[in-house]
Amino acid sequence: MGHVIGIDLGTTYSCIAGLEGGRPVVIPNLEGLPTTPSVVSFTAAGERLVGTLAMRQAVTNPANTFYAVKRLIGQKYRSPQIQEAIGRLPYTLKEAPNGDVAVVLGDRTLSPPEISSMVLSYLKECAEAFFGGPVTEAVITVPAHFNDAQRQATKDAATIAGLAVQRVINEPTAAGLAYGLDAKKNGLAAVYDLGGGTFDITILELSEGVFNVLATNGDSYLGGEDFDNRILEWLGESFRAETGIDLGSDKLALQRVKEAAEKAKRELSFTSETEINLPFISSDRSSSKHIRKTLSRLTFETMTADLVERTVPRIEQALADAKLTLDRIDHVILVGGQTRMPLVKERVTKFFGRKPEEKVDPDQIVALGAAIQSGVLDGQVRDIVLLLDVTPFALGIETEGDGYETVIERNTTVPVRKVKAFTTVEHNQRRVRIHVLQGEGFLASMNKSLAVFELVGIEPAPAGVPQIDVTFEITADGLVQVSAKDKETGLEQRIEVRPSSGLTAAEVEEMRKRQAGRELAKLGANG
Ligand code: AMP
Repeated sequence: MGHVIGIDLGTTYSCIAGLEGGRPVVIPNLEGLPTTPSVVSFTAAGERLVGTLAMRQAVTNPANTFYAVKRLIGQKYRSPQIQEAIGRLPYTLKEAPNGDVAVVLGDRTLSPPEISSMVLSYLKECAEAFFGGPVTEAVITVPAHFNDAQRQATKDAATIAGLAVQRVINEPTAAGLAYGLDAKKNGLAAVYDLGGGTFDITILELSEGVFNVLATNGDSYLGGEDFDNRILEWLGESFRAETGIDLGSDKLALQRVKEAAEKAKRELSFTSETEINLPFISSDRSSSKHIRKTLSRLTFETMTADLVERTVPRIEQALADAKLTLDRIDHVILVGGQTRMPLVKERVTKFFGRKPEEKVDPDQIVALGAAIQSGVLDGQVRDIVLLLDVTPFALGIETEGDGYETVIERNTTVPVRKVKAFTTVEHNQRRVRIHVLQGEGFLASMNKSLAVFELVGIEPAPAGVPQIDVTFEITADGLVQVSAKDKETGLEQRIEVRPSSGLTAAEVEEMRKRQAGRELAKLGANG
């Protein structure tokens, strides 16, 4: 039997777990730590660094140190989220030929999956050192609210790192699995997951080894980084007011302020006041300038209360979709580092009218759950009979005049298949175009375009005569697949797929080869 591995590829930190004697354990990284910063850096000397070593480069080498790449994965360059991120990131983003976002390294660009693959590759190495043998497969987690493009890009990252993906599972579901199995709990659980970059709320039923997700909701653009940014903006504004200097154009200074902001935020989870001290952060003709500010927990809470509040309607929607009232929830589980903030805990306690479970480590539980799922798929864990998850978004197709017709509703249990019959509207029409989208918007243009599937080579016939059954499928990984059959002949209908984003299979393969040969390690020097 191979080694079973679960990986939580986080926005800010990643964690890897395995099974030892049938029990899930966190695998320490090469420095002996349970979590690894999801940071990759290329030094001027041509070295590729990952994790803590890369993070240490962030201040001295900001343009070639890539963090929070999970926020870029599966995104279009022109999306509002990316446009907003551009001004804040010390590294440069660019539009890839297919419209996806790419990261600039010297005179070339890298795709977000390629950078994430370097974090995964490092984690794979840690697991191999731990087990003393090769690791080739893993369960990998994603935020429940990741769409098809983001899931596919994450899967691509694993493939590039040389890992076969046993299953992509949702982070809160993984947490529910680890919690339910460990505590042998039954009943209804709400998993509130606020990580570095994403928020998910998942309602699931735990019952004698059956884990049934009833509903999920979330925001893949709300997380700890937004809390850091509030402190960053506050510091930047007061510095500008005092000195007239805008720190925004100084990448090095910006990185120092960002790190100080995150540190202050963490401290405020345990103290009521903290000092932010950044000597020689800038200068003008007359003198050097320093930042020295005191931030109280109360002020920080006032700055960020709206971010915490943004999670509430999401919880309400998830409960409504699960057709449950608040009093039915038996367990509240907090996941993700940002839930250590007292205000988050208080708001969740107030909402549910009960305290969250105490014994859960918010940084490790997702990886532990992923390792359990890996063990289930491998046959090493037998206590879990079934894990049923749901799709976070509706799947639909474009109809005339920017219309949108839902084919699969959100929160439907996956895997799921729906068959729809298509025909032609003109005589001798040889092609039928199906534009597949994901989302809840009532217009096609309000939703995320996944791909255009074109049925080609239809036999000439009068309009309306050809009958083609198109099967829309969402796999257990949450990925979308479309296939078609000619009803009359029963023959597989040929489809040309034009994906709206993502890497091609050939690109993934090329990157995998490059990664295996560590060619990119030298990029820093060349670029
Ligand atoms: P995760 O994606 O779960 O690793 O979450 C990491 C996020 O949690 C980052 O934004 C961290 O800054 C944040 N975080 C970690 N520890 C704390 C803490 N003690 N208080 C507040 N936020 C924290």
